[in-house]
Amino acid sequence: MSSPLEILQRVFGYEAFRGEQQAIIETLLAGRDALVLMPTGGGKSLCYQIPALLRPGTGVVVSPLIALMQDQVDALRELGVRAAYLNSSQEWREAREVERQMLNGELDLLYVAPERLLTDRCMELLQRSRIALFAIDEAHCVSQWGHDFRPEYLGLSALHEYWPDVPRIALTATATAATREEIARRLGLEEAAHFVSSFDRPNILYRIVEKNEVKRQLLSFIREEHPGESGIVYCLSRSRVEDMAAFLSQNGVPALPYHAGMDASVRAHHQARFLREEGLVMTATIAFGMGVNKPDVRFVAHVDLPKSVEGYYQETGRAGRDGEPASAWMAYGLQDVVQQRRMIDESMGDEQFKRRSGRQLDAMLGLCETVDCRRQQLLAYFGQHIEPCGNCDTCLEPPESWDGTVAAQKLLSAIFRLWRERGQRYGAGHIIDILRGKSTPRVREQGHDTLSVFGVGADQSEQSWRSVLRQLLAKGLVAVDTEGHGTLMLTEQSRAVLKGEITLMLRREAPGAGRATRVRRP
Ligand code: ADP
Ligand code: ZN
Repeated sequence: MSSPLEILQRVFGYEAFRGEQQAIIETLLAGRDALVLMPTGGGKSLCYQIPALLRPGTGVVVSPLIALMQDQVDALRELGVRAAYLNSSQEWREAREVERQMLNGELDLLYVAPERLLTDRCMELLQRSRIALFAIDEAHCVSQWGHDFRPEYLGLSALHEYWPDVPRIALTATATAATREEIARRLGLEEAAHFVSSFDRPNILYRIVEKNEVKRQLLSFIREEHPGESGIVYCLSRSRVEDMAAFLSQNGVPALPYHAGMDASVRAHHQARFLREEGLVMTATIAFGMGVNKPDVRFVAHVDLPKSVEGYYQETGRAGRDGEPASAWMAYGLQDVVQQRRMIDESMGDEQFKRRSGRQLDAMLGLCETVDCRRQQLLAYFGQHIEPCGNCDTCLEPPESWDGTVAAQKLLSAIFRLWRERGQRYGAGHIIDILRGKSTPRVREQGHDTLSVFGVGADQSEQSWRSVLRQLLAKGLVAVDTEGHGTLMLTEQSRAVLKGEITLMLRREAPGAGRATRVRRP
C-alpha cells in the first residue's frame, strides 16, 4: 500500500504536506473522526481526498455547493482519480450511471449535496456500497446561529448512526470555539480529534474607517489603491447592491451586482464573469462568496457593518488568497449600529436568538472601535494570540486615545434631562445639535435652547460627538430605541458614568483616518 506522501506526490504532484494535513490524514487512516478548522485556501480538500484513495471503498463528500461539484470532479478526473457527483442539476440517466459505478466499487470519491444524501434512494445506495469515509464540507452550515445555516445539515448526524465504523471528517473555514463545539455536538463528533490551524492572513491589510459619504469614500479607495483590480463590495440589502454597482459603473469602475433576489441564470452569469475577467468588482450581499475560489481578489470592502466578527472574517478572507498583498476595507457609522439593532429587535427569532445576535454585534462594534491592533482583536475572537501586526490601520497610524469621561457625561445628561424634564427622546442628530448649541428650527420650536445642557459641548465638532456616541453604543453605555426610530436612551451602566465612577478612555479618529499607507508585506 502506498503512503500518504507517495499519493500526494504521485497523484497530486505536490512535494510536501502543508500544516497539519498529514496528521489529519493519519487520523482518518487510523479510523478516527476529525474536526478541521483551516482558513480558506489552507488545503482542506486533500485531507479527505488522500485517505479516500488509501482506504478501501468510496469517500463520500457532502458539500452544499452544487455549482462547484462539477469543477472539483473534473479536476480530480484530470489527475486520474475516479470521482463523480450526484446532484439535482444532473440528468436522470447520468445519475443512474453514477449509482452503477458506486455499487461496482468503481469510485474513489463521490460528491453529494446534503438534501440528496438524505433521500431514501441515496441512503440505500450507500448501504449497498463500501464507504471509505464521510467528509462534511462547510460544516459550519450546521450551526443555527451562523448566516450559512442549512437545515439539511442537521440530518447528517444520521451518518454516524447508520455507519458507526466509518470515519468522518468535518471541515470549515470559519468557527469560533462555540461554533466548533456546536458542530461537534450536532454532528455527533464528540470523539473527533480537533485540528485548528492559524487563522492569520498576514497579507491582508485591515482597515475600518468612519462612514460619511460612503460612495465617494469607496470610489476613492478603489481608485487610489486598487485601480483596475478585482474586488468584492459587500452591502446589507439587495437595493444597495444594485445601487452600488450602478454607481461604480457610472464612475469608471466596472461592477456587477449579485444577490439572492436576482434571477439564478443572471447570478450565475455574473459570478462566471467575475471569476474569468480581470478587474471586475462584484457588489453583493453575503449570498455571494462561499466556495467562490478566485485567488487574485485584491480587496474586500464592506459598506455596511457585518452582523458578526465571524462573518467579517469569512468575507474579508476572500481577499488575497494568492498570498499577495490585499485589503479589507470597511466604512461604518452610527446609522449602522441603529440599523443592526433594529434588525435584531424586529427579527422573528426568540429571545435567545436576539441575545446572541446582540452579543455578536457588540463584538463587531468592539473590533470597529478598538485602539489596539485590529488583527490582534480579530484573532483573539478565534482564540489565537498574536503580537501587534504592523499591517492594519491602528498599527500603521495608532489612534490617539483621550479621556472622554466628561464628554460622555455631557452627552448622557442631555439624554437624561430631555427625558426627565420634558419626557422627550431624540436621535443622535438633535442631541448633538443641543450639545453644540446650534439654534436649529427644531431646537427653537421645542425651546431646547433653554436646557442647561444647551451648548455645553460647543468645543467639539459634530464628527467628534458622533465618534463619542458610537463608542458609548459599542460599550453599552447608551442604547438605541429601535421602536422609536433610533432615539437614544440610557442603560443600566450609564449611571456609573454620570456619577463619575468610571473613567472612559476613547478612541480619537486620526485626521485623514482611512488613508493608512498600504504596506507591502509578503
Ligand atoms: P480549501 O478547501 O482549504 O480552501 P483547497 O483544498 O482548495 O483549500 O486548497 C487550496 C489550494 O492549495 C489548492 O490549489 C490546492 O491544490 C493547494 N494545496 C493544497 N495542499 C497543498 C500542498 N500540500 N502543497 C501544495 N499545494 C497545496
Ligand atoms: Zn495590527
